[in-house]
Amino acid sequence: MDIKVNEITKVYGTAENRVTALKPASMEIHKGDFISIMGPSGSGKSTLLHIISGLDSPTAGTVTYDRTDIHHGSDKELSAFRRRKIGFVFQQFHLLPVLTARENILMPLLLDKVRPDEGHLMQIAGFLGLQDRLSHLPHELSGGQQQRVAIARALIADPEVIFADEPTGNLDSKSGGEVMEMLCEIQKKLDKTLIVITHDKQLAGMAQRRFTIVDGKLREEAES
Ligand code: ADP
Ligand code: ADP
Repeated sequence: MDIKVNEITKVYGTAENRVTALKPASMEIHKGDFISIMGPSGSGKSTLLHIISGLDSPTAGTVTYDRTDIHHGSDKELSAFRRRKIGFVFQQFHLLPVLTARENILMPLLLDKVRPDEGHLMQIAGFLGLQDRLSHLPHELSGGQQQRVAIARALIADPEVIFADEPTGNLDSKSGGEVMEMLCEIQKKLDKTLIVITHDKQLAGMAQRRFTIVDGKLREEAES
């Protein structure tokens, strides 16, 4: 899938109290691209990511995946589209604390009433080094392991596109480095489109295309 972001803007708030979070932003994302987006706190990174991934709608402009305008259909269509086509990784992992790693990873399939394939689960768990951790609860895992469970959950429904919002932001540099490398491997070996928001210059530098956003204005860095 190619993603076309066409002149999207976002204004929050009421008439008296308006915040322009995103100035007209356009980008074309091709299947298999690895894109990073850097910028200071409050610059509009999460807003941009939420709109491109369909978690939020733009004030103006469109986002199309191949020819589908994702903000045009019903909420139900949009959430089904997200569950099948998009994987999310967040800074705060967002694992369900009472479920094991295995159950957390399989949750997207459960929500979509898709029967889990044990072989596929073990393949993903192996890829992320989680084979021995599947029966653990999140609190029994290190931060890096928890984030790897979250990455496995993002992959289980085999989406084409992965969005990661500060995936290493809550990790020490060693486990952050491991998570970084795994995301790169996933993009290369599994041919996923990967879009990462990060403060981490090293992670941003691993991307093929680097964008920055300052005061809501997005721009692409020249290739180096
Ligand atoms: P970043 O992810 O770069 O930290 P955000 O996209 O979260 O930036 O925020 C961009 C701007 O929009 C900030 O000024 C923020 O305060 C504002 N903002 C974000 N979400 C909302 C909201 N739901 N209501 C009002 N203002 C918001
Ligand atoms: P932070 O940047 O504060 O650490 P996160 O990156 O964890 O926050 O989450 C960013 C935003 O994404 C949050 O505002 C949250 O509401 C939203 N979010 C988190 N998990 C999900 C999810 N599974 N589905 C949809 N939205 C989510």
